Amino acid sequence: MHGAGERALGVHRVLEPAGVLPQAAHRLDADPAIGPDEVRISVQRLNLDAASFRQLSESCGGDGQAVRAAVLEIVRSRGKMQNPVTGSGGMLIGVVDAVGPESPLGLQVGQRVATLVSLTLTPLRITDGLARWDGRSEQVPAEGTAILFARSIAAVLPDDLPDAVSLAVLDVCGAPAATARVVEQTAAKSVVVIGAAGKSGSLSLAAARAAGATELTGLVRDDTEAAALRASGLADRVVIADATDPLAVAAAVGTPADVTVVCVDVPGAEHGAVLATSDGGTVVFFSMATSFSAAALGAEGMAADVTMLVGNGYTPGHADLALELYRSTPGVRALIDPRVHE
Ligand code: NAP
Repeated sequence: MHGAGERALGVHRVLEPAGVLPQAAHRLDADPAIGPDEVRISVQRLNLDAASFRQLSESCGGDGQAVRAAVLEIVRSRGKMQNPVTGSGGMLIGVVDAVGPESPLGLQVGQRVATLVSLTLTPLRITDGLARWDGRSEQVPAEGTAILFARSIAAVLPDDLPDAVSLAVLDVCGAPAATARVVEQTAAKSVVVIGAAGKSGSLSLAAARAAGATELTGLVRDDTEAAALRASGLADRVVIADATDPLAVAAAVGTPADVTVVCVDVPGAEHGAVLATSDGGTVVFFSMATSFSAAALGAEGMAADVTMLVGNGYTPGHADLALELYRSTPGVRALIDPRVHE
């Protein structure tokens, strides 16, 4: 039997290996019958994390049917959606359809919510074979059930935004919150965002500006993204480089910045990010494709005195901050909306 503290973390749902928390588990029990401290969500849509979707899509040669089969097999065999290669998941939206009498989450049956805990630790059962998904987008219409624990978090979906937009913004809401916190705490003036025209990148630029940064550089991969980012007005300067080419990143950025935020969805951006950051500065690695060893050993090898932060997906108030930046910043909407498929 597990105590209330362990149950709150979802340990009772771990099938193997014993003794780990749900995020590290290979397999979870996704039984829709809830315990007294749990909440069941009737799933409507999943948002696969960008790094996971890109990896699945590339490994299936862009074949949507194969991507769908791969996602179904992961969820069936693991009881959760955790890409075994990237280790990442995403999040979901749905309707609360059962609340245990001891759940502390304050949710009510019928509320429409987004889970703000990762799919990598959320017990998930899919019942429609993902029949309405073509396997070609990060957002996945789905039917099934998901379980929230006593220490999970969920946000009631706002009425003023399309669900697909809320899902996309909330999936990356840790990035603007982390950026704002670092800029405020270090009184940073110059910020470089790598992958600046994407969802987390555009929100991070807006958050850096709101937090007091005055020299914002957005690094993007090509002319098309550069034009879109310039038109958005979010960055003071737009530069083009392949984020995985460290020397090209350093040359494009020029004078290193106080803070660098890594928002790409591909591996290999660590060294460029370190080179883009001044001595005494901070790198926030929000990308799930980040390698701890590449970042740590790379910085050591360059004798770079930078603080490196793992972009924690949770910061108090992160959901409201991201939704508010989306609502109040036309440039953020201009970059995110075309990436959201209704
Ligand atoms: P996104 O909207 O797809 O943005 C990624 C951007 O990076 C795109 O503009 C992409 O360009 C660009 N990019 C890709 N490869 C590049 C390269 N070699 N050089 C320059 N730019 C490049 O992704 P997102 O949803 O913001 O997610 C970004 C990252 O955050 C992902 O790794 C995701 O897994 C991670 N994430 C982290 C957390 C957390 O809690 N830490 C939570 C959610 C997501 P194209 O569109 O042209 O490819």
